[in-house]
Amino acid sequence: MLPFDIATPGTLAEALALLDQYDEEACVFAGGTALVIALRQRMIAPRVVVSIGQLPGLSEITYSEAEGLRIGALARHAQIAASDPVRRHYPVLAQLFGGLANPQVRNQGTVGGNLCYADPATDPPSCLLALGAEVIIAGRMGQRRLPMRAFLVDFFTTALEPGEILAGIHIPPPQPGEHALYRRHLRTPAEHRPLANVALRFVAGPDGHSWKDVRLAIGAAVPVALPMDEAGRALTGRPITLAVAGEAAALVAERLEPISDSRGDAAFRTAVVRAAVRRIVAEAAGLDWTETT
Ligand SMILES: Cc1cc2nc3c(=O)[nH]c(=O)nc-3n(C[C@H](O)[C@H](O)[C@H](O)COP(=O)(O)OP(=O)(O)OC[C@H]3O[C@@H](n4cnc5c(N)ncnc54)[C@H](O)[C@@H]3O)c2cc1C
Repeated sequence: MLPFDIATPGTLAEALALLDQYDEEACVFAGGTALVIALRQRMIAPRVVVSIGQLPGLSEITYSEAEGLRIGALARHAQIAASDPVRRHYPVLAQLFGGLANPQVRNQGTVGGNLCYADPATDPPSCLLALGAEVIIAGRMGQRRLPMRAFLVDFFTTALEPGEILAGIHIPPPQPGEHALYRRHLRTPAEHRPLANVALRFVAGPDGHSWKDVRLAIGAAVPVALPMDEAGRALTGRPITLAVAGEAAALVAERLEPISDSRGDAAFRTAVVRAAVRRIVAEAAGLDWTETT
């Protein structure tokens, strides 16, 4: 690790001023679980590390029926999993944040750090896409909001501009009849990071058999989490059967441009995602996914 200075601003404004002052020579430090590895491996060599973990007001989790959920960027994974409004109104997020990585990372890593690092082998992005989340970004000129799908740009790349800090995430209030599911798939049970994951969100129609406002998203198997709009449309307004689940899975597999690496080549990841989509749709519809069609 190369030497660097640590700055500990007392407010968000001071942190933004430091980023402005040191520009490309500065980097933000939240929980440090990703950054310390990057520093030790000399993937980055900042002159100043701006520690934001202690900033007031950026780790709060608040909910209102009108506004929905706001999660501060500095909220830690375990904190989100244990949060009362999250458990009550977004149980899928409580499950996701309570199940990712390992206890050490869940107690130290922040959701903001997870999203800003943009490592593909992570859990939250696909689920946040499916829930229609947006991010709140703070800069010297004020705040801006971006839909999650515009924030996630590519492999280790987000729409964050130099000098900006992710302040939080906003998730709209659940609609009546809304359901959301998230499933992650590991290469081996000993691994922490997902090889592939899939998130599904829909509103059950009045007939109880068909869905509307369906959003399906894939993560980890691809360089950047991806909304699968075509498959979502295929699941809309018709009774969900195993054949329909298989159709959506085939559409996703066709569209997928997966990562191919030592953890799994493209063909393997495509097969995992295809099976995962069929299974999550079947589970959501109360069907036995082990049956063949
Ligand atoms: C062993 C291990 C296993 C893991 N397994 C999983 C897993 O199964 N699933 C999963 O989803 N993730 C997993 N992770 C990733 C983990 O979730 C992230 O490392 C963590 O969330 C990053 O948060 P942090 O606060 O530690 O970020 P830091 O390490 O402090 O920062 C990470 C990056 O984001 C930037 N940054 C941080 N916060 C902000 C902000 N608010 N605004 C702007 N830039 C910011 C930093 O400059 C840095 O570039 C794993 C990590 C480890 C080390």
